[in-house]
Amino acid sequence: MSDSDKQMLELLEEWSTLFIDNAKYQRLICKECMVGVTVGFIGKHLKKKHGVKMDMANKVEKHIRASHWGWVDCLGLKPEDGKRAQEGLDVFDGIRCKFCRNFNSRSVVEVEEHWKLMGHGEMKGCSIEAVPMQSWVGREGKRPELWVVEKEEREKDCQVQKGHTEEFGDWQLEIIKEGLKRVGLGDEWVVA
Ligand SMILES: [Zn+2]
Ligand SMILES: [Zn+2]
Repeated sequence: MSDSDKQMLELLEEWSTLFIDNAKYQRLICKECMVGVTVGFIGKHLKKKHGVKMDMANKVEKHIRASHWGWVDCLGLKPEDGKRAQEGLDVFDGIRCKFCRNFNSRSVVEVEEHWKLMGHGEMKGCSIEAVPMQSWVGREGKRPELWVVEKEEREKDCQVQKGHTEEFGDWQLEIIKEGLKRVGLGDEWVVA
């Protein structure tokens, strides 16, 4: 092997160490970006997120593919809700429907729409709970791509305010906002 070949191999190896394997879901987790990409997306990821030139990015992808034989590019699986967080992936704040616990989101409005659509009944008090979440693409993940991960500390639910007679309205959004603030979510939430 020539010196330049050796150098190239070292370079490829170095880029490869940016990723850790998630064999169960056949994803490579970028340690820097904390996202999980499929083998066939490595090149694009390096180009887009790390400014690697196309030629080099494709070489790294090929190099990684060689050691991940049989890994597919379109395994759309995601972990079940409530399990331990996937290593190396970003954990961010999410919310889910408090009634069915089966609707993950990042938007209060979305949960409220779901609540009405599913006929969960009158929204008394808080309709959401804050839960830690992950997705392969981080917090920008679309609703169906989000999954809930195990909490490390005790659940911090928002409290139901008793004695309110108004219809669902601003007061309830205030409670939700308060709840979100308490768990450190603050204003990034869509509360229209
Ligand atoms: Zn990255
Ligand atoms: Zn629900």
